[in-house]
Amino acid sequence: MTQPITIHGHFYQPPREDPFTGEMPREAGAEPYHDFNEKITAECYRPNAFAGNLDRLSFNIGPTLIGWLDRYQHETYARIQEADRVHRQAHGVGNAIAQPAHHTILPLARRRDKITQIKWGIASFIQRFGRQPRGMWLPEMAVDLPTLEILSRRGLSFTILSEEQVRGDLREGAGPYRVRLPEGGYFAIFVRDRHLSNQISFDANQPKDARAWLTERVHARQGLTLIATDGETFGHHQRHGVQFLTDLLRAEAESPYQIVTLTDYLRTHPPTVEVEINERTAWSCSHHLARWDTGCGCTPGDHSWKPVLRSALDLLADEIDALYLYELQRTFSRPWQLVDQYIDVVLGSADVGTLIRENTSAKLTTGQTLSIGKLVQAQLHRQRMFTSCGWFFEKLARPEPRYVIAQAMRAIQLVKQAVDVDLGPDFREALRAARSSKTKTGALTVVHSAADVYDEIAAAHPL
Ligand SMILES: [Zn+2]
Repeated sequence: MTQPITIHGHFYQPPREDPFTGEMPREAGAEPYHDFNEKITAECYRPNAFAGNLDRLSFNIGPTLIGWLDRYQHETYARIQEADRVHRQAHGVGNAIAQPAHHTILPLARRRDKITQIKWGIASFIQRFGRQPRGMWLPEMAVDLPTLEILSRRGLSFTILSEEQVRGDLREGAGPYRVRLPEGGYFAIFVRDRHLSNQISFDANQPKDARAWLTERVHARQGLTLIATDGETFGHHQRHGVQFLTDLLRAEAESPYQIVTLTDYLRTHPPTVEVEINERTAWSCSHHLARWDTGCGCTPGDHSWKPVLRSALDLLADEIDALYLYELQRTFSRPWQLVDQYIDVVLGSADVGTLIRENTSAKLTTGQTLSIGKLVQAQLHRQRMFTSCGWFFEKLARPEPRYVIAQAMRAIQLVKQAVDVDLGPDFREALRAARSSKTKTGALTVVHSAADVYDEIAAAHPL
């Protein structure tokens, strides 16, 4: 009997563009390329796309990354779109699944933000692939029931979790299984084989027989086997990974296994076995969600800056939202609908003036329209400041925490331009307690705070 196997690639890069200019800075370490997106495109995205690997893989690609590919690497972008079409022609369903817009850890986000992130992720997917998504990848596989409930309400059918995030009878391998939702109904989950998924990340560099490698590991298994890992494993993290993946995915008449994709498999295997999820867990940290919240031993050294940075941003988000609602409630019956629809402006399929007019019956002056446009744009940057990458690593001095602080400051600048309220000084004050060491030239270690990062950004972009 041939064994069904899915290989799922999660393609994603932390966003790196300057929120004030929209441009990518030149990045040290990416040479001879301008930045890491360019480098990883050359090593992974492009060769995998043109080898046809994405036609047979199950995959998701971060909305910010695919937006960058559209702008700077259009051939690769078009070939990725084509991959989903090729699969659809062959199987009747596509093989790409969606992802929330900004890699936010959804269980740590308030309900309103969960909804926006998921709606924006769906809208981005539709724009890129020309169809409704069936499944959604959760950033870091971070899960709770309210998130699954919102996915279900938005018309999505499944997500992927790792086996350590699930309780129950997992004899059916990857499933799919069903999870009972608090307000009724079920949501389907596929469960990845954690060990095998991690193993591929190490073994994909071995110039040995990829098919024999996989055959040996899935011998006499029950049900579907799911290997889900970062797509960058294939070519970027592992140099021989593109060829390894090509070999694994190739269709062969006498093969002991058959490659299937999640959406296709779900059609013929509706879930019947019910399992429970371990809420507020993720695939890359065994301390629930501490890596992105209080900090945990997954990163070395003092991580006390993490909760301080998060609470400073939470407080700022409250203030931005309060001002937003205060300004819009008089003239907009559904102020959050305007935010949810703003993704069309980001994607270039709507203009903000028209969107504002469509959302209110009030006659607004040009000045009012301009200021509402800035407030809703501030909501975009306020969403981006919760990108999980900001908390993933050990040091505050890295580009990722700087990125979330810069996004916050761009939101502050737009609010100030719109309503002449300066949220900057209080935010800077809240950042002072986020302290971390950094190594300067000559290996001298100094302690700095997130307020220093704020000052550096403010020097380049006066608020
Ligand atoms: Zn951890």
